[in-house]
Amino acid sequence: MKQSFLFTKTRRDAPKDEVSQNAKLLIRAGFIHKEMAGVYSYLPLGLRVLNKIIGIIREEMNALGGQELFLSALQDKGVWEKTGRWDEKAVDSWFKTELKGGAETGLAFTHEEPLTALMRDHISSYKDLPKYLYQFQVKFRNELRARSGIIRGREFLMKDLYSFSRNEAEHTPFYEQVKKAYNTIFKRIGIGEKTVLAFASGGSFSKNSHEFQTICAAGEDTIHLCEKCSIALNDEIITEQTVCPKCGGEKFTREKAVEVGNIFTLGTKFSDALGLQYRDETGKELPVFMGSYGIGPGRAMGVVVELFSDEKGIVWPKNIAPFTVHLISLASSAKVKKEADALYEKLQKVGIETLYDERDARAGEKFADADLIGIPLRAVISEKTPVGKVEIKERTSDSPRLISHAELLKMISGK
Ligand code: ATP
Ligand code: MG
Repeated sequence: MKQSFLFTKTRRDAPKDEVSQNAKLLIRAGFIHKEMAGVYSYLPLGLRVLNKIIGIIREEMNALGGQELFLSALQDKGVWEKTGRWDEKAVDSWFKTELKGGAETGLAFTHEEPLTALMRDHISSYKDLPKYLYQFQVKFRNELRARSGIIRGREFLMKDLYSFSRNEAEHTPFYEQVKKAYNTIFKRIGIGEKTVLAFASGGSFSKNSHEFQTICAAGEDTIHLCEKCSIALNDEIITEQTVCPKCGGEKFTREKAVEVGNIFTLGTKFSDALGLQYRDETGKELPVFMGSYGIGPGRAMGVVVELFSDEKGIVWPKNIAPFTVHLISLASSAKVKKEADALYEKLQKVGIETLYDERDARAGEKFADADLIGIPLRAVISEKTPVGKVEIKERTSDSPRLISHAELLKMISGK
C-alpha cells in the first residue's frame, strides 16, 4: 500500500486523557481512534494487526475441530433469566435497553446462554456429540474502570469457543487440547515467553478454570508465579491454595499480569438451566457437559504494544505486523523514485506486504513515522543507494546494511 493512499495521519503527541502506553502509541501511530473512554475504533493499520491475530486464532480453533458461527449481540432476556444472569446483582456489567414496544433487551457480555438455548435445536442424541463452536464477536461490558486502552474496552472483540460433550470423560481431553492450542496461539502472536498458565478460582460458576496471564507491568491483575515450575496462581486462589498445585512448590513471586485468555469447565450448569439434553445409547436423557474458552484479540494486541515498544514507537512481532516491509523512498530525483517504484512493484508481485512511503516529506519525518508505526523491516532507497541495492534495517536494530533487491526478496520470502 502506498502511504499517500493511507488516510490516517500520525501525530507527535499522545492524547492528554490517555494513561495507557498501548492507547497512546496506537492512537499516535494511527491504528485506533478513541470514541470515548473504553471504546475504540480500529483504523486500517489497526485492523490489519487485529485481523492477523484473528487469523492465527481461527487456524488454531479450526485445528481443534471448531466450527465458526456468529451469534447476535442483541439478547432476549428470557434465556438469561433461566440461569439467573439477567439479574444485575449477579452481573453488574450489562448494557441493557428497551425495544420500542417496551420489552427489555441486553447487549451480550458473553454467549453461554443463547448458544446453549440454540443448541437445543441441534443436539438430541449422543451421535450429535461432541461439538465445538466458536465465534469472533463484539461483547459489551459496562466496565467500571477503562483506563488500559484496548486491554479493557467497554465494547471489545472476543473469540469465544464452547464445547458440548457427553460427559466429563469426553470433555477433559478437549479441555487439555485447548490449553495446548492457547499456548500455540500466544506463541504465534509473539507473547508466548511472557504468558503463563494460572490456576483460577473460577468465579461463581466453575470449579475447574485456568487463565492465561501475560506478565506485563501494565497489568491490572496480580499473579503468584511458582519459582519452581512457572505455573501461576491468581490473586483470588492464593489465599486458599498455598502450595503450587502442579509441583508442590512453596515459593511464589508476585507479578503484574494481563489475562489474555480464560478457559472454564462449565459442567452441566447451563444445560441444566436451559434444558439442553441428549439421549445416550440406552435412550436415557442426560444433560450436555459444557466448557467455554475466551481470548480477547484486541486485548492481546494491546499487550503486544505494552511489551514491545520503545521511546520511538511500536515494535511489532513479525507474525502480526501490519506489513512485512516499510519501503521508504527519499526521492529528490526521478532516478531514486524509479528505483523505489520498481522495488515496490517487485515486492507486490511476489505478495510481500509492503507499506511504501513515497510521500513528498523530509527523511527525518519518514523515519520517525516508520519507527512509530513499527513495521519489523525498513528498506530505504535514496540518492546514496547504489542502483539495484537497498538499505535495510530491522526495527530492533540501529545498524542499516546494503543488500541487493534480489537478496531482500529472498530474505523475506525464504526462497
Ligand atoms: P477480566 O478479569 O480482565 O475482566 P474476564 O475474566 O472478565 O477478564 P472473560 O469473561 O473470561 O474475561 O473473557 C474472556 C477473554 O476476553 C479474556 O481472557 C480477555 O482476553 C478478554 N476480555 C475480557 N474483558 C475484556 C475487556 N473489557 N476488553 C478487552 N478484552 C477483554
Ligand atoms: Mg471482566
